[in-house]
Amino acid sequence: MSLQETDKKYIANTYNRFPVSIVSGKGSVVKDENGKEYIDLGSGIGVTSFGIADDVWQTAITEQIAKVQHMSNLYYTEPCARLAEMLCEKTGMKKVFFSNSGAEANECAIKIARKYAFDKYGKDRYTIVTLKNSFHGRTLTTLSATGQEHYHELFNPLTPGFTSVDMGDLDALNKIHAETPVAGVLIECIQGEGGVLPIDADFIKSLNAWCNENDVLFMVDEVQTGNGRTGEFYAYMNYGVTPDVVSTAKGLAGGLPLGATLIGEKAQSVLGFGDHGSTFGGNPVCCAAAVSIVKRIDSALLADVKEKSKAVFEALQGAKGVESVSGMGLMIGIKPVRPAAEIVKEVMDKGVLCLTAKDKVRLLPALNIPQETLLKAVEIIKNACANV
Ligand SMILES: *Cc1c(COP(=O)(O)O)cnc(C)c1O
Repeated sequence: MSLQETDKKYIANTYNRFPVSIVSGKGSVVKDENGKEYIDLGSGIGVTSFGIADDVWQTAITEQIAKVQHMSNLYYTEPCARLAEMLCEKTGMKKVFFSNSGAEANECAIKIARKYAFDKYGKDRYTIVTLKNSFHGRTLTTLSATGQEHYHELFNPLTPGFTSVDMGDLDALNKIHAETPVAGVLIECIQGEGGVLPIDADFIKSLNAWCNENDVLFMVDEVQTGNGRTGEFYAYMNYGVTPDVVSTAKGLAGGLPLGATLIGEKAQSVLGFGDHGSTFGGNPVCCAAAVSIVKRIDSALLADVKEKSKAVFEALQGAKGVESVSGMGLMIGIKPVRPAAEIVKEVMDKGVLCLTAKDKVRLLPALNIPQETLLKAVEIIKNACANV
């Protein structure tokens, strides 16, 4: 059996894979089993922050693997403490809980909001409000948080105590709070899976203010938007808001599984011994990888992300067959006249890997992709869009 046949036979049928096996790569160029090269504008859905098999990242991992690859959370290890310190210094947050994925980072955020409200207001204040069209993960509770019905239908009953409101609808939020008191509000500043859809800046500020007035935790899901992706370390920093809780994962460890939930001053003491835990969370190899990534997301790199973003927007805005371009930094959505999936397939044949999100072609290239490589790939996408 070929590799693809074996995969089809034995792997659960949840992914509709392209008929391509990726075998190796370097930076933003990957190779398939036939030696064909692709410019990678997907970076494993925003995970390989500094590209494939990056040298600095590899060294950080191999050095840590040679020391200790895993220890239970019963003991101290260096990389997770260093990483937590770096994340708190970059954000002003006070505490970090490490897990293994975006969904788990959000689960932790939700538990913090529930316990914060329980400790202060008792058992009836537990509702978590999210936005329509959001995406917060695939576990049953983060599916419940996800404001898209079509993810829910087949898996009822979901975790109770979740509801979602339309972007801009503070009235709905007030109404919910009056009927079923709210413990936390969880939002993405730019909805990724929802179609690279930026949330209105004034609404983000109003939500933060509303949360402060009502002593409700303001929580930002930075799983996709975080760790340099938008040209700031976290996307919320573009809006002058101060979240109480931040969840992140995807690009944090540059390609190893790591989730983090950052907790601000207000809720820093909510989690006590035994309230939460994870066997693999804070794994020293994943954390050493993340230290090497976070170290390099400095002001020069962020300025570079913004610069490259500008070049992509300029190349695509108003181009033939392109209805609109959305997003921020190196999280970019292109709405083509043609179906997005058609464009993605076509440019793959021409040596470019990119993603879709709803009706958009979605780009999440490595943060350090050379501008020349990026623009070469964007030109190929532009030509495919123009072919209407
Ligand atoms: C990908 C994503 C998640 C889920 O992350 P996993 O690591 O797949 O669990 C949650 N929230 C957002 C915004 C995401 O983009």
